[in-house]
Amino acid sequence: MSRILVFVEHDDGLVTETSLQALTMARTIGEVESVSVGASGIGGLQIEHPVLTDYAPAAIAEALAQLVGAEMPAAVLAAGTERGNEVMAHLAALLDLPLAANVTRVAPSGEEWKLTRVRWGGSLLEECTLTAFVKLVTVALHSIEAAPIETPSPVTVFTPDLTDAHAMTRVTERVTLAEGITLTTAPVVVSGGRGVGSREGFAVLEELASLIGGAIGCSRVVTNSGWRPHSDQVGQTGTRVAPNLYIACGISGAIQHWVGMMSSKNVLAINTDAEAPMVTKADYAVIGDLHPILNAIVAEVKRRQSL
Ligand SMILES: Cc1cc2nc3c(=O)[nH]c(=O)nc-3n(C[C@H](O)[C@H](O)[C@H](O)COP(=O)(O)OP(=O)(O)OC[C@H]3O[C@@H](n4cnc5c(N)ncnc54)[C@H](O)[C@@H]3O)c2cc1C
Repeated sequence: MSRILVFVEHDDGLVTETSLQALTMARTIGEVESVSVGASGIGGLQIEHPVLTDYAPAAIAEALAQLVGAEMPAAVLAAGTERGNEVMAHLAALLDLPLAANVTRVAPSGEEWKLTRVRWGGSLLEECTLTAFVKLVTVALHSIEAAPIETPSPVTVFTPDLTDAHAMTRVTERVTLAEGITLTTAPVVVSGGRGVGSREGFAVLEELASLIGGAIGCSRVVTNSGWRPHSDQVGQTGTRVAPNLYIACGISGAIQHWVGMMSSKNVLAINTDAEAPMVTKADYAVIGDLHPILNAIVAEVKRRQSL
């Protein structure tokens, strides 16, 4: 039976739901061994090294590459999270092997694996064939129901040969976000794009959000411009939201943004361009410059709240 290594992410020693999903998919393919960093309670292969004090994708990938060389598994799987995909992309580069990311189905057929995988932020399913002497796969989030780990396997420690240079990319600081309304739980998201024009331009969006119990979101152009932190970004490479109302101010509605907010119950687009994809797909649209429009909405909300 094929031996499959699964790189497992954990939260203070608790295996994440998405890694449980990856383990579950791996068990449909072969004999599974989990590999983790810094959580001996999980069992399985434990990678231990002084440079691995926190998340360090290139160092973890180097350790996995050395482990693959020592164990020669048929495949390495991980969850299709930001971190899982990042570590596995490094691993693929180190081993010079293909990586099939965000896979929803695996059907091994001899040396070939038939795969289905999610592309374009969930808008396309691709059927493909993976041939490689070690298959590298990440499992699309929530594509399989996770089975719990019943009995953790005994711990085997693997100490890779790493230097500080391998951990050049690593976590150096953790910032706790303020408690209260968050982007993922807010009933209303007031979101701004390039059309907002500047960091200061978000003041009126913040005022509206605070009046109606909303959270601020934004497009990638905005985070790339340094107007808002990445934690506010909605989309394929940001947060996915599903509020009752998504107010898209000066956002064109590129597919990578749309996939992050398409589950919103109602979408209001405010845009100067009546042909912008966000406008044509929205439930409601106001065509014009967002600043006077938002000022007018804020004034009306205040008037009604004072009645
Ligand atoms: C791999 C990849 C991943 C990506 N991930 C993300 C992601 O997670 N999230 C994301 O958002 N993008 C993402 N992008 C980028 C995405 O493709 C778009 O470039 C981005 O969403 C566009 O941002 P925008 O709508 O703010 O800017 P633009 O596309 O430039 O649109 C600006 C809009 O503002 C309108 N406007 C201008 N001035 C005003 C005004 N005064 N009043 C009202 N409207 C005005 C314009 O008519 C236009 O519709 C990704 C791209 C790639 C390649």
